[in-house]
Amino acid sequence: MIRAVPPDSLWQATAQPEPDAPALAAEERADVVVIGGGFCGLSCALHLAEGGCDTMLLESHGFGWGASGRNGGQLIPCFKDNPEDLIARHGPDLGGAMADLGAGGGDLVADLIARHEIDCAFHRDGWIHAVHSQSALPAIEGRARQWQARGRDVRMLGRDEVAALTGCNDYVAGYLDPSGGGLNPMSLARGMARAAQRAGARLHAASPARRIARQGDGWRVTTPLGAVRCNQIVLATGAYSDDLVPALRRSILPMQSLQIATEPLPADLRATILPKDHVVSDTRRLLLYFRLNEEGRLVFGGRGSTGGEAMKPAHLARLEATMRQYFPQIGDIPLRYRWAGQVDLTPERALRVHHPEPGFWAVIGFSGRGVAIAPAVGKALAGAVMRDSTDGLPLPVTPMRPLPFHALRRPAMAGAIGWAWLRDRLERAGRRR
Ligand SMILES: Cc1cc2nc3c(=O)[nH]c(=O)nc-3n(C[C@H](O)[C@H](O)[C@H](O)COP(=O)(O)OP(=O)(O)OC[C@H]3O[C@@H](n4cnc5c(N)ncnc54)[C@H](O)[C@@H]3O)c2cc1C
Repeated sequence: MIRAVPPDSLWQATAQPEPDAPALAAEERADVVVIGGGFCGLSCALHLAEGGCDTMLLESHGFGWGASGRNGGQLIPCFKDNPEDLIARHGPDLGGAMADLGAGGGDLVADLIARHEIDCAFHRDGWIHAVHSQSALPAIEGRARQWQARGRDVRMLGRDEVAALTGCNDYVAGYLDPSGGGLNPMSLARGMARAAQRAGARLHAASPARRIARQGDGWRVTTPLGAVRCNQIVLATGAYSDDLVPALRRSILPMQSLQIATEPLPADLRATILPKDHVVSDTRRLLLYFRLNEEGRLVFGGRGSTGGEAMKPAHLARLEATMRQYFPQIGDIPLRYRWAGQVDLTPERALRVHHPEPGFWAVIGFSGRGVAIAPAVGKALAGAVMRDSTDGLPLPVTPMRPLPFHALRRPAMAGAIGWAWLRDRLERAGRRR
């Protein structure tokens, strides 16, 4: 089987080597089979194995091949929803536990990196959520108050402070969470895979799960060259979900996010752009995000197409123009890398966890916030699987809800994106009046 190589990404070019994990090529048995080798599946497999569970992980391509190895590498330790929103939606116990799970994601990843000695250029200098307009400000101020009330060391930044910390004059304010940070996500995924192997999990790359069938009280999962019987299955296939479970694939709106990275910036520019190594994403509906890597390359991301994996030259050109507009001081410094990944958006932009039958678990819909959150969710799922119960799982469990008319999603998404773009533009223009 030919394994698809991820695009020409900065992370792929600078990552630690892939772990050795041959394709599944026999009929085997395991307690639990995890399907999907991104942060969520890898964390689940690692924590299952550490809990003494006989675990196998199947990945179609290589570990981190999906969103986990292609993202912005920004460690953002909170769900997109504020604690009070989670509490309003799920009640004080579950909503509060979910907020804490998200907030704990940063420490969990830091602990995994330290405990398993994962070399992934990790630094924890803080995440700035940059506010693009006055109308976006109250929600972010509310978030700061809510997290401060829960004892987190977060604070608001004024316009000048954001400009000084980012090197970009385009923002009206910012929110600083010092527990955020940056890393090479492909190296983290590969390091987590190695850690799971050392803990005793059997990992198989180039092993797409093609079919899941009930067999007695358990399951049989078939791959092109082998099969495995197991008691429980965890599906963590994200935006790259295929027709293994069609209802899961049809419950998300896959959306491309593009990134570009420059040649390393000279020292004088380095001193003006992100001088304290913060990672940044902004509050626009079609968000922009940026950071430096350890070589001093400016890495800049934004939305791509709704139409599959291929990068469109017009989208890349627009992203590059935006980067140069936001950071005019970089002049014509050349780009070196361009790549894309798919985000698993749900219509409500919230994670979905499913447990439709005994022994079957699925998670999807990180909606673009997964470097800290997906490992935390994977760990929480491992606990639920080992208890064989949703009791104590700090996440809401819901029935699968495939979207009606999923096949027609592209024109609908294009319309929604156009509307979001217009509102972002109007807010940005209004801010200047
Ligand atoms: C471009 C981009 C930038 C982002 N930036 C950030 C960021 O800076 N910070 C942040 O917090 N979040 C970010 N995100 C979101 C974050 O990357 C994701 O939420 C997270 O990686 C999701 O992890 P996952 O394990 O659910 O899915 P993935 O990492 O997508 O893993 C799913 C895996 O399942 C495999 N698979 C699918 N079907 C099968 C099958 N049938 N059999 C076996 N394997 C299968 C796929 O090959 C894939 O490797 C970004 C996402 C993108 C795309």
